[in-house]
Amino acid sequence: MRLTLGLIKSKLDEHGLGNDVQLVEVSPDGGRVDVGPFQAEFVRMTHSIPDAVAVALHTAHGTILHTGDFKIDMTPIDGRPADLARLRQLGDRGVALLLSDSTNAENPGRTASEATVGPSLRKIIAEAPGRVIVTSFASTPVGVSIMRPTVRTSNAELTSSAQAIATSAATSTE
Ligand SMILES: [Zn+2]
Repeated sequence: MRLTLGLIKSKLDEHGLGNDVQLVEVSPDGGRVDVGPFQAEFVRMTHSIPDAVAVALHTAHGTILHTGDFKIDMTPIDGRPADLARLRQLGDRGVALLLSDSTNAENPGRTASEATVGPSLRKIIAEAPGRVIVTSFASTPVGVSIMRPTVRTSNAELTSSAQAIATSAATSTE
């Protein structure tokens, strides 16, 4: 979870809150963590950003499941799929409150895997007669990690004007 921790730390620092918050690195493989009167469990999820987890808060009155922003990706770039079995188990046992966020969840069908982005970009860049400008969420270092090999095989140059992307990329390789 080093990447997400690094991202949140730089946001907190940006707003002068870095010293007011205790950051604790957690792992979906690390079992439950005591948080006051609750126990928190972290379930691996997938998104365009690596290290996404859902938080299951086990309380005396039932389980609260906060999925975070997620996208079910069966071929995630980091090779670590979402723990759908554990989500199913939690559902079978009963969830008192589900807080869930996934873009286009109301639309039927699936969104293409992040793994399709690299080949598509390579094709577009290879066939482009001139300059190609690619934009990406600053918080999506996966985008940068896709771009690097794409650029290498395309005899092109990677110029990042957004400092945030560089920071994200640096955080992701720390
Ligand atoms: Zn999303």
